[in-house]
Amino acid sequence: MEFRFELALCAALESPTRVVARQLGAGIENPGGRIVDVCVLTPGPNFDRRAAITPDRIPDPAIEAAVGPGEAVPLTRAFDLPPDRAEAAAERAAEIGYLERERRDGRPVVRATARYPDDWVGSLTAIENKPDLGTPGDLAAQLRYDAALGLFDEVVLATASYVTRAHLNRIPEAIGVWRFDPETGEREVVREPTPLDPAAPGVEIREERALRTDVTLVDPAAKARKRRRIAERAYGKGWRPDPPACARATTTADGRPYCERFDRVVDPGRDCGAPCDEYVPADPPATDRDRLRDERTAWVAAPDGDGPRRQSGLSRFL
Ligand code: SF4
Repeated sequence: MEFRFELALCAALESPTRVVARQLGAGIENPGGRIVDVCVLTPGPNFDRRAAITPDRIPDPAIEAAVGPGEAVPLTRAFDLPPDRAEAAAERAAEIGYLERERRDGRPVVRATARYPDDWVGSLTAIENKPDLGTPGDLAAQLRYDAALGLFDEVVLATASYVTRAHLNRIPEAIGVWRFDPETGEREVVREPTPLDPAAPGVEIREERALRTDVTLVDPAAKARKRRRIAERAYGKGWRPDPPACARATTTADGRPYCERFDRVVDPGRDCGAPCDEYVPADPPATDRDRLRDERTAWVAAPDGDGPRRQSGLSRFL
């Protein structure tokens, strides 16, 4: 249920002034410690310059490399990494079009194809999905973590349940609450989120126990780096999963994997293949995820093409 709820919410949130992605790591000192369900990025002033570089994620080592679009610099000077990792990072950055590589006097050199823009992200909103508030699991702890760290500009809980005052009292005040109907795509704002402060130091909760909570203080620079990684990951990844390699699979008009045998959106990783009695191995159905993403969101599939320039800085959830 949670998977289908999540994909329906992602589809409903897509718009030409946003990029929507799902399942992104959001822990800083403990990177696997927090995975956010959905992340919505809105464009900042230099979004078009970022989109013009590549539709893919630009890996962090390439962004942090001491290399710009001017003079080519030796690979070993550009990357503060062991030679094999520097080589792999340069290779990947060249594949996606961010770096150019040559040899000069027999030595590898690199140059950026463009200056990596600051300020291409307007805002990052994290959304935690809990379709059924009757089985909240560790929801309250996750939302306490997000509120204390302040990595995102806003954090929202999305649910299909009727939200009572008791529910609201159990989660931090800064967290917004939406009631979302995955069948109709309708979304009601039960409580607006209070903006958090990503530029301030944060507190990363490591472990909550009965009598004490272990925390790590996180400085604003570490938060800024993590935000850039999340933004890059969101930009490159999007939210549409690979459809199952089954003859009975197809995709909905907005690109969700759909099973014609069971008449519903499916989770390919959980519902399909060996666990399914009706599985008929085949090539996965053809979907044009890039076209859908390009048409429906701020992401640009082919930066060299003549696609329309997009307006940035529009309000976050129209
Ligand atoms: S594997 Fe089963 S659930 Fe998945 S698409 Fe095929 S028939 Fe449907």
